[in-house]
Amino acid sequence: MKKIGIVKDELFLKHTNGPQHPECPERLESINSMLDSSGLIKKLDLLDPVDATVDQILSAHTEQYFNKVKDTKGVDVYNFDPDTSSNAYTYDAAMRGSGGFLSSIDKVLNDELDYSFAFPRPPGHHAEADRAMGFCFFNHVAVAASHLLSKGLDRVIVIDWDIHHGNGTQHIFYDNPNVLFFSIHQFPFYPGTGSLDEFGKGEGEGYTVNLPVPPMLADADYNKLFELILTPVIEQYKPQYILVSAGFDAYFVDPIGNMQITESGFAQLTRYVMNAADKYCEGKLSLVLEGGYNVMGLASITKLVLEELLEINTTEILLPEDFRNLEFVIEGVLGTYSKYWKFD
Ligand SMILES: [Zn+2]
Repeated sequence: MKKIGIVKDELFLKHTNGPQHPECPERLESINSMLDSSGLIKKLDLLDPVDATVDQILSAHTEQYFNKVKDTKGVDVYNFDPDTSSNAYTYDAAMRGSGGFLSSIDKVLNDELDYSFAFPRPPGHHAEADRAMGFCFFNHVAVAASHLLSKGLDRVIVIDWDIHHGNGTQHIFYDNPNVLFFSIHQFPFYPGTGSLDEFGKGEGEGYTVNLPVPPMLADADYNKLFELILTPVIEQYKPQYILVSAGFDAYFVDPIGNMQITESGFAQLTRYVMNAADKYCEGKLSLVLEGGYNVMGLASITKLVLEELLEINTTEILLPEDFRNLEFVIEGVLGTYSKYWKFD
């Protein structure tokens, strides 16, 4: 069995965006009760998360924006945008979310853990350097990628399979070849970014790889797209660390997304990133929860994903018999990215 560290904390349950909001504490409560009732919690290393330092947050965010979030500490409600608001605990929860993810990564780097998975709230990938949006305040995966660069790494890949485009992460590293940002996302869809016209700029040109896809794709479709597009990019980039923005809102009954990914599909994506990490970067792999709004589904998906990471299961990656429905997607992506990467 692999040694898997997970990050969870009571503070993550205290942040709310207000009543009747899909990004609610029940999301993590559902995962927590599954961990207890399944006995999985006994097979995992439960990490004791620490808060991020101010400098760690400032590696991805502006000081002015950081102070704006900090000023909401203890304030009942502050609306950052129409669907993103803080309460008295949001600042503390976001600091511990980033810090917890970082401490799990340090343990993977030191070989104390094989892989890690952090379950913070609020989530992170929509947070821009200078503003909150899309339920996100501090961009945990961006803080993590910056942390790895500060440790001397110069090829970190972020794989974002949340159904929404990770606009914040993309923009923070848009001109930086040391962080390759790959995102598969429903398009057009919130937040509107992530088209094939966005491929990085300056020294970072070609190091943003967007895979905008139509709705209703199934498990095998995602696997096929990963095999055809992501695998050659990983092979050529040779990442030293794989970070995953693991949203679960491409789930087939998610109330926000419109994909057809099953629990097994997420286990297959997990198997894919494990295989890639084992093959190209000595198993250096850490995942962080982003979206996912079907409360029961979050528990059942997380169960299979953790069992995959622990290697209690070894799920076979299924490929479609027919992928004609994907041809126009593949042609578009290859048309843009063949300039930067070699595809077979
Ligand atoms: Zn999402």
